[in-house]
Amino acid sequence: MKKLIIANWKCNPATLKEAQELFHLIKEDIKNKDVVICPPSIFLPFLICDDINFGAQNCFWEKSGAYTGEISPQMIKSIGCEYVIIGHSERRTIFNESNDEIRSKIKQAKRAGLVPIVCIGESKDQNTFEIIEEQIRGVEQDVILAYEPLWAIGTGENASFDKVREVREFLKDRKFLYGGSVNSQNAKDYLEITDGLLIGGASLNAIEFLKIIKTAY
Ligand code: PEP
Repeated sequence: MKKLIIANWKCNPATLKEAQELFHLIKEDIKNKDVVICPPSIFLPFLICDDINFGAQNCFWEKSGAYTGEISPQMIKSIGCEYVIIGHSERRTIFNESNDEIRSKIKQAKRAGLVPIVCIGESKDQNTFEIIEEQIRGVEQDVILAYEPLWAIGTGENASFDKVREVREFLKDRKFLYGGSVNSQNAKDYLEITDGLLIGGASLNAIEFLKIIKTAY
């Protein structure tokens, strides 16, 4: 199975100019690969180009209407994206997104023809499998799941390979990514036990990100 590498730039960089510069540094090396760049939505129209996959970092659960500030999956699709990250732990914790809202977003994203990348994972004091069971209830089999334990995101404290393997087995035949402090040193080992990686911090450093891409290809 081909490995999928998702770059989640989060709310970075701070300006369009910096986003264009970062993209310029990685562009040629990610063409025609299973790499998806997810910059802030406002930068997408300035970066989208042929032979590279793009995604948004979030979407709304309605197609259109009186929802000030929201961006629908249909809008995301219409500018040339194929993917959308849904339920990232920062959305769940900082913006209080519930599992029900996330399920609605997944439904609308699929309706729009986007591939949802749904983030799941527990905090330190929670039972991994109880939390995941609730997070994936009603989520269809064809959705990509990214296991990102909260304590591993942006901390340098990775989930152990045994833990990731255990979660993968629990999720059986689903397409399964790992995310959480992935870098060029550990990417190869995670790629051996997953279908790909969701990368935050390391995707903002062109040299580091391209090293990870080389590991996968
Ligand atoms: C993420 O943003 O989903 C993520 C995994 O971040 P980082 O790679 O920085 O831990």
